[in-house]
Amino acid sequence: MSRARVLLLNPALGPLDYRVPYGMTAEPGSIVVAPLGPRQLTGVVWEPERMPSDAEVGDNRLRNLISVHDAPPLAAPLRRLIEWTSDYYLAPPGAVLRMALPSSSALESGRTVLEYRATGLIPDRLTPQRAQALERIGDRQGLVRELALIADVSDAVIRGLCKAGAIEPVEVALDTPFPEPDPDHAAPELTAEQREAADRFTEAVEAHSFQPFVLDGVTGSGKTEVYFEGVAAAIRAGRQSLVLLPEIALTEPFLRRFATRFGVLPVAWHSGLRQSQRRRAWRAIASGEAKVVVGARSALFLPYRDLGLIVIDEAHEASFKQEDGVQYHARDTAVMRGHFEDIPIILASATPAIETRHQVELGRYEEVKLPARFGGAQLPEIAAIDLLQDPPPRGHWLAPTLVKAIEETLERGEQSLLFLNRRGYAPLTLCRHCGHRFQCPNCTAWLVEHRLIHRLQCHHCGLIAKPPEVCPECKAEDSLVACGPGVERIADEVAALFPDAPRAIVTSDTIWSPAKAAEFVARMEANEISIVIGTQLVTKGYHFPNLTLVGVVDADLGLAGGDLRAAERTFQQIAQVAGRAGRGSKPGRVFVQTHDVNAPVIQALVSGDGESFYTAETETRHEAGAPPFGRMAAIVVSSENAQAAIETARLIGKTAPHIDQMHVFGPAPAPLAMLRGRHRHRLLVHARRSLDVQDVIRDWLGALTWPGSVRVSVDVDPYSFL
Ligand code: ADP
Ligand code: ZN
Repeated sequence: MSRARVLLLNPALGPLDYRVPYGMTAEPGSIVVAPLGPRQLTGVVWEPERMPSDAEVGDNRLRNLISVHDAPPLAAPLRRLIEWTSDYYLAPPGAVLRMALPSSSALESGRTVLEYRATGLIPDRLTPQRAQALERIGDRQGLVRELALIADVSDAVIRGLCKAGAIEPVEVALDTPFPEPDPDHAAPELTAEQREAADRFTEAVEAHSFQPFVLDGVTGSGKTEVYFEGVAAAIRAGRQSLVLLPEIALTEPFLRRFATRFGVLPVAWHSGLRQSQRRRAWRAIASGEAKVVVGARSALFLPYRDLGLIVIDEAHEASFKQEDGVQYHARDTAVMRGHFEDIPIILASATPAIETRHQVELGRYEEVKLPARFGGAQLPEIAAIDLLQDPPPRGHWLAPTLVKAIEETLERGEQSLLFLNRRGYAPLTLCRHCGHRFQCPNCTAWLVEHRLIHRLQCHHCGLIAKPPEVCPECKAEDSLVACGPGVERIADEVAALFPDAPRAIVTSDTIWSPAKAAEFVARMEANEISIVIGTQLVTKGYHFPNLTLVGVVDADLGLAGGDLRAAERTFQQIAQVAGRAGRGSKPGRVFVQTHDVNAPVIQALVSGDGESFYTAETETRHEAGAPPFGRMAAIVVSSENAQAAIETARLIGKTAPHIDQMHVFGPAPAPLAMLRGRHRHRLLVHARRSLDVQDVIRDWLGALTWPGSVRVSVDVDPYSFL
């Protein structure tokens, strides 16, 4: 008889054995439906020797598999990637598998689905909810549930609008094919240096063997054009390419740029997709029909039929690290996928991470450099503004030098960008009478004032409260004051200084969909905006030739936390935002406001000597045995029950194995001591490179038990220390 080991799409379950009924073909990788108690679950057949089960069941007690899905089996390289990810990041294999099969509807047959869209008719009875729904839905289309989510109303409101004729059903074909990109559609004339870099990528794609590349070139040097040549080579070879971007907001401009180069849009994959789009994309990826996929990190685990190239754009970005669920780093995991698929992978960045530079030094990654901006465009001059010498007037945030530069830029009809990585109006609100501070009841965090929507908001748990009329503590009226600036407050200051200059705030609050991003880009390109005030969302990817001034409002902000990558991150972020200036024929200027002009990172930015900064940072890490020279893992213990959390954390601390090559710090209350109502404690494991720290942690935690209310999560190679 024939048995099959199956990994079910359920993180709580290990692999289970089933009988393969007569006449069914189930091989490793087959996507099957299996019974579990009274339920039916989807799972994937696995090689038993690679997925040991601790519950061996005799032949006579096995249950039959129910069916095999009509979808290509998961290929061996993807199965190896799932095993590796589960092993390395100490995550249940079922949780990793879910990332490869995120769309249950993708597995169902059925050629059409009913979606809904607005008809343009305004119903006679226009309640505020109906008005909000129609406004937010605009020209979008989706299932009732999806539209309700977009509009932030109940399903009943959408159905009511449908009855009233304001929304109509449309039948959508699920599997319309994607058109093929044309590698020769509009190939640019590359410079000699670009050509040399592009040739390395085309050779590697043609060789179809594992090779990580670091594509290192200043912003505007043509990195995108050059890796597009690698993509073109993969298309010619009939293979698929995957391009990962750090933010969904970047997909829209990227899609357009891709279409200009290759004649058609690539296949997009991100959390903003509707169910029907998700299904269509998944099936096209699995069948090999989707030749180029561009997406957020979750696109990494999809079952590409024949992958030929992976590109990670802005590879240094910390947003490639997933901070919930399976806490994997998409950059590092992508390199592993490249290894299992035996294909090249390109990490593109103007400021490669210290971890990545180290791999180059070790000779594991090949460095490909683009030394200059394309077309003779000059990198902008970066100047520091010493806020101690040249302070803004009281209650203001822009120093006179920066204000003057904005004025000059306006006079020339050019655009300015002010960067401050803080959403909302003010990060803290307090009562001037009694000093009461507005804190989130669920988190160790202040409530942030958002004046545009007249709300206080917690940026950790999303709690939203109306600003009270009186202080809740001392009942004083009109006593609340905003402390510190957010982008909305800077926008107010700009409005007061330059009332006639059209401005835009760009944050995740204003650019919450690819369509909104497209609208912003169009307005910038039409020169309808003179001053942009934005968070890190605006620092990447955009190419606005008329943008010639960048002001960094608070360069010290990122250094405050003080974790091991703070200075490096600040350097990357400011270099990145500075790279938005002067991308066309007009030269750019950058001003960086700081209280500490002598900080090494500020000096490096101003002098343009990034290399010595990196050398010094790397040396510091080396001495401390910090990554990439040593290894770290964070163990976070959390519970709604404060006592249970602290007791479990202590138990873990007490039972820490005594190993020469490893040191355990803590437990200690986490900086975010409370998050979403859960009390949090942290331990930090610091180990030598040579130690298999995952194995140690597996054995250590595996021998312990804790109450059901407690959650223990392990973050291998942590990027967040909160
Ligand atoms: P990066 O990705 O390094 O920031 P891009 O690839 O975006 O650089 O290039 C910057 C700008 O220069 C883009 O508008 C791009 O189209 C243009 N560009 C770069 N190389 C060429 C080339 N060889 N021919 C024409 N335009 C180019
Ligand atoms: Zn909160």
